[in-house]
This record gives sequence, C-alpha cells and structure tokens, in this order.
Amino acid sequence: MRFFIALLCCVTLQLQAQKPKKPSSSEIYEQLKGLNFLGTALYFAAHPDDENTAMISYLANDVHARTGYLALTRGDGGQNLIGPEIRELLGVIRTQELLAARRTDGGEQRFTRANDFGYSKNPEETLEFWEQDQVLSDVVWAIRNFKPDVIINRFDHRSPGTTHGHHTTSAMLSVEAFDLVNDPSVFPTQLKYTEIWQPQRLFFNTSWWFYGSQEKFKEADKSNLVSVDVGSYYPAYGLSNTEISALSRSQHKSQGFGNTGSRGEQVEYLELLKGDYPQSGNIFEGIDTSWNRVEGGAAIGKILYEVEENYDFNNPSASLPELLKAYTLIKNLKDAHWRDLKTKQITSIIKACSGLYLEAATGQQAAIVNETINLTFEAINRSHFPVEIESIELVPSGKKIVISQDLAFNSDYKEQVQFNTGGADLTTAYWLTEQGSAGMYKVTDQELIGLPETPKVFKAIFNLKIGAISIPFITNLVYKYTDRVEGEVYEPFEIVPEASVAVKDPVIIFANAEPKTILTDVTAYTSNLSGTVSLNVPVGWKVSEPQKVNIAQKGETKSIAFTVTPPKDASEGLLEPQFVLNGKTLTDKVVRIDYDHIPLQTLTLPSTNKLVRLDIDKKGNYIGYIAGAGDVIPESLRQIGYQVAEVSPEEITAKNLENFDAVVMGIRAYNVVDELKYKQPILLDYVKNGGTMVVQYNTARGFSFPNLGPYPLHLSSDRVTDEFAEVTVLDPTAEVLNYPNKITNTDFEGWVQERGLYFPDEYDSAYKPIISIHDKDEAASDGSLLIAKYGEGRYIYTGLSFFRELPAGVSGAYRLFANMLSVGKNDQKIKQ
Ligand SMILES: [Zn+2]
Repeated sequence: MRFFIALLCCVTLQLQAQKPKKPSSSEIYEQLKGLNFLGTALYFAAHPDDENTAMISYLANDVHARTGYLALTRGDGGQNLIGPEIRELLGVIRTQELLAARRTDGGEQRFTRANDFGYSKNPEETLEFWEQDQVLSDVVWAIRNFKPDVIINRFDHRSPGTTHGHHTTSAMLSVEAFDLVNDPSVFPTQLKYTEIWQPQRLFFNTSWWFYGSQEKFKEADKSNLVSVDVGSYYPAYGLSNTEISALSRSQHKSQGFGNTGSRGEQVEYLELLKGDYPQSGNIFEGIDTSWNRVEGGAAIGKILYEVEENYDFNNPSASLPELLKAYTLIKNLKDAHWRDLKTKQITSIIKACSGLYLEAATGQQAAIVNETINLTFEAINRSHFPVEIESIELVPSGKKIVISQDLAFNSDYKEQVQFNTGGADLTTAYWLTEQGSAGMYKVTDQELIGLPETPKVFKAIFNLKIGAISIPFITNLVYKYTDRVEGEVYEPFEIVPEASVAVKDPVIIFANAEPKTILTDVTAYTSNLSGTVSLNVPVGWKVSEPQKVNIAQKGETKSIAFTVTPPKDASEGLLEPQFVLNGKTLTDKVVRIDYDHIPLQTLTLPSTNKLVRLDIDKKGNYIGYIAGAGDVIPESLRQIGYQVAEVSPEEITAKNLENFDAVVMGIRAYNVVDELKYKQPILLDYVKNGGTMVVQYNTARGFSFPNLGPYPLHLSSDRVTDEFAEVTVLDPTAEVLNYPNKITNTDFEGWVQERGLYFPDEYDSAYKPIISIHDKDEAASDGSLLIAKYGEGRYIYTGLSFFRELPAGVSGAYRLFANMLSVGKNDQKIKQ
C-alpha cells in the first residue's frame, strides 16, 4: 500500500470539499479542450494511494483525456494516521480521499467489490480471499462502462511475490480482462446495462522500483519503452503538472502522504503489453480522438473547434450561441455513451459561460423519512444572454414548481419551499449494507458495483431556457450554514433514523464474573423522542431491565446505564442495543466521520458489539505504557482490569519505572520516538533490576538501534500473513505458556488479519524462542516471541500482532498477553 512513498509527492488543505465548483474564465477554456477531446484512459491498481497522480493529472489536464483510476479496493486494511477509524470506516475515509485526489487532478474514480483484507505476499494468497470471478467481472464491468482506449497498469503482472499480492493481482486481472471485455459471451448479464468494448492499448507504467534501484533503472535499456514527459506547466492554473500531482497525492492524509510539489521535466515510462507500439510516443496514436470519431460528430466538431479558437477570456458568454447549437446536436447523437458524456460536459460549460449559479440548500444536515423541511432555491444569471427559469423539479418526489420568469442580468432569484423527504433510504455506504466475506463486499445491484459512493438521493432540476434552448441543470440538495470561523460551509444532506442507539466500545471484555456498567447512547434525530431502550445479550449473560427514554431536543444524546453480568465460564457473543418507539424497533447507529479534507460522512450501520468473557488470570497490576506509532494497548489492558499509566519519553526515569509490574512499548516505538535512543539504557536497567519489559514490533527498514534488547537482536521483514497459520510450540514448559494461564492451541484460534510481522531472524542465544509459525510454502520463523532473562528481570520481544488481536477481542491473545506481563512473577517457578 505504501508503495510509492518515495516516488511521488504533496500540500494544501481542501476545506469544505462540498463547495460548488465556480470555474474561472481560464478553467472554462480548459473544459472546452476536454469537450473537444474524445479519448479515454484508465489507470489500474489495487489500493487508494497506489495510483501515479502525475500520470493521471497529465492525461486529464494536458492531454484532456477522460481519465479514470480503477482501484480494486478501498484500502480498509491500511493504517490510519489521522484518527481512530479502522477497517470499513477507514475504507470510507480512503474512498473519500481518492475522490478528493480526483477533484484535484481531474480524474474519475472507480472500484470493485474486492476488500483490502490486509497484507498478502502473492496473488495466490490474495485470491484465497478474493472471489476471482467476481473481481474479474467487476474489472470487465468497469472497462465496459468507462470504455477506455488506453489502459495503464501501475504494477507488473509478471513478477508475483515481489510486491503486495493485491498489486500483482490487479495487473494480472487487467491483462486478462483486456482480451475478454469485447466478448459478449463473457459476463453476458452485464450487457443488459452496457455494451462490449475493446481498448486499443495496454501499458505497464514501469519505474526504477521495478528495477531495484534508481541507478539500475538509469542504466537499463529503455528503447522499447514509451517515454512521456509529465512535467507540463498549466498557465490556466498557475501550476505545473507535478505540483498538481503532489496536491492530489497529499489528499491521502490518513496514510501520511503529504509531500512537496516539484517543477520541471519528469519522465514516465510505459511498457506496451498489448496493442501496437505508438511510434510517435503519443499513447493515443492512431485512435481518432476528434469529433469525427462519433457518427454525427463532424458537424459538432466544426462548431466546437471554432468556439475553442475564438474563446473570449473576457466574455465567455460570447460562446453561448454556438455552444447551444452544439448542445442540440450532441443531444441527438445516436451513440449513447458519447451523447451522455458530452451532454454533461457541455451543460456544465454552458452554465459556467453564463455565470449561472444554481443552488438547492437546506438549513439542516439531516432529516428522517417523511419529514417536511425547508428548502431554499437560488438561481442567478451573470451574463447578458437571455435566460428564463421555467421550472424547478424535486427528485425523487417529482414535485414540480412552475416559475416561467426571466433571469435578468445579475438579479438573484430566491424561493423558499417546503418539501417532504418521503420514504427515502437511510444514508449509508452501499457496499456496507450487506454482510460480505473477509475478501469481498456484497453488492447485488449491478448498477451500483464500482461506483465510488452511494448516489445522492435528493436533487433539484432547474429547467432553464437559455436563448431558445431548454436545458435541465441537475444539482444535489446540500446542507449549507455559516460557521463563525470557516465562513460558508457546505455538507451533504442525509437521511437518518429517528434515533441512533450505540454502545461506544466495539468490544467489551470481562476478565472475571463481575458485572460491568455499560453506557448506551441514544441520540434523537427528531424532537420529543420517547421510547424504550434495551440491550440484547447472548444466552448465559444477564442484563438489567429496559429503560424509558425521553429526549426533548433533536440532536441531543442521552447515556443510559445498563448492568451486564457475564456467565461464570468463558463465553463470546453479540451485544445488540435497541430502541423501541411506537412499536417500531430501531437497531442502527449513526456514525459520522468528520475531517476537513473530505465531506462529512454519515453512515447508518447495524449497532452490534462483541461481548467476551475471558477465562484469564493475571499477576501484577500496574503497567507502564510507552506509546509508539499508535495502538490501543492501554485501553485493552484496562478492560481486563490492569491499571495502565501512559509514560511520556521525558518521564522514563529509574524512579518512575520502579513502580511498574511491567512496561509495554507501543508498536514501532523505536521507529518513531527519537528520545528512546537516550532512554533505552534506563529501560534495560529496569529489566536488570527485576522488571518485565514487553517490546512490540518495529519495522526493519532502515532500522538501526544498537541496544534494542539487552543482547544482540536483528529484525527482518519476515511476517506471517495467514491468521490461521498453524502454531508450533517450541518449548511447552516455557513459563509464558503456562503461567498464570495455560496456553493451548485454542488460544491461537480466531486471530484476525495476520499472525505477526517483522520478526527477528538473528538473535543471541540468551533469547529463548517460544513458538514457530510460517505461511504456506515458507520457512518457519521462530522469532515471533522471544524471551530473555536479563539480570533479575525479563525482556520480551514480540512481533505477534497483539495490536490487532486485542481490539478485536481475541481471547487467546489476551491470555497470552497477560502471561507476558506475568513472566518472572511465578512464585513456584515453572521454568526460567
Ligand atoms: Zn498498494
């Protein structure tokens, strides 16, 4: 996923991503060039952030081709550097980051149903999770719909095992699909909605990375590669292509991909995989990208090339008479694909040339079904060209307001109406509404597959007569307000349930039979909400009585306390809060994701939490935690009754440490916390004096930390990505496997995403390896859990992925972690 960190760059906040576009005169001119280019390119890779934004921006802004990026996944399996969202909620953020990137570089975004389930070493492993036929179908579907002339793969389909399995698989599927999309017998049901299509060329966008080093790539024979200088400068934007590329790349904020733009020549290399070699270096060579391409297009071209040539930057509305002629001709094209695409483009150019501003806004961010809300329409014509507002239609209600009024120059038309939301669907991400598998989202509606987000339900159609031509202009209904700091803010308008019921912690752990108080938040999305909230618990668990709730104010949240008592023995199950009002049972929670660089996201998701009653013993109570790159170890340990103190680097002193029963280092602490260089001797002395220290994984790349442990220890990139990989115990008598909890094979069941990563491969004999694991067809790794006695204490280094397993409520991982913290504390020592 972090593939191109070194290659590409980035900067800028794009506050209020919902703000309507208001193109300048020179931007309109660029759009005209795009209108007159009938060629399409599709970039192809696996994750959000794999894409080469310099190439996408060059194709969109210099060539003026319609340019797409097909990311097979939404990046659910990545990390999140800006907030707590992981998994599917991270996928929602990264989807929006891709859309923000495309708004910046001018591309369009598409997906498949493949889920980024985490790291895999090769395509074979990838396809154990992905349904190959479904993903291939989605790739074929994307190509048939987008109809690219040229496809460009980010990755090499011939080198499995050299990069993430998702990467190679993306290239392999692209190569396979290239020869299938034009065959009507392949995925024939798609042809109810679209047509077969044959792209002309397939390229692989190679780079130094695939050659091992910049030096090797410099020396490599590139005579068979097409080279493209993507370092163009755009006076219309005052930016170089590579600066735009950096701005686009910087949208991947959850991945920490901010970087600085560059200027000047930048050459990209394309290896031709299919089709004929373009001698001129133009990847569209031999493909008619003029209006002649489409039947009936010649007459349109005759008009529009002149519009482009005679465009008046001081008065864009001077182009309107000719644009309107072309509009009528485009509307009558037989070819539905080009007709729809070009109608959309020319409509937005006509709107921009007229200085038209059209808005349908509410003063509330969300409403419930069948709610009547106020809506304000605004329409203004800032050209001297005659414009009449005929009517405004509301979608989906079909309500039509007939107006028949001239829009005089610069005179603002405003109208307030009431409208009813009707029986609209609750707002959510369409790919999360049905339970999928680890590797696939479940989406059954063919027309939704591949769309970046759920289509907006509420729209207003402004039917305007421009000159003598009637044109419908469609806008999404938006929520608009004035923020005292930000000023004008636009957000999506959403539909939510009457109430949201939610328990904050996704996983609640019980370390013993003691009951716990569980707070259930009820949020009202309607005034005077009145009903009963209750919790459903699994068989064997007990919960206190349902409670009446009254909430007067819309938007207010009340926290209701329930007592949940676990069974005596180990048990797992679902906790399901529900709210009953007027006989109707609500079981959803409304989740909001709010960051400056993406539009506010609202999701209505089933409100379920995991309950775990552990069979666990622990020795010691007071744990010191030193944060690294970010994990939730403190919260997880507190859940099972430990007292955890978070210790900042400055607080690492011998005196502070001596109070702790054990000290735990956060993941990648030595990678990200510089001060640890000076503090490590103090930590190791703590061990020497009888302390227990648990060090979680650090990444091996560029890692040089002389005294990571008390004895020499070398980190490798060894990882075991199969979370089901069999665990072989090397030393069954080891204290960590016996005290205070007896660890058995059962404790390695139910792990998520992976076993672990960056295991040490060479270590001093003072370290005792405890278990051995390996992925299929790979050598065993014994370094995932190492324990050394040092002085009076114990030092533990572990690459096992506790940072994933504990938040997922994996009971065996808790038991093993408790044992690590207890090592050396056994009074009747089993074994040192
Ligand atoms: Zn990737």
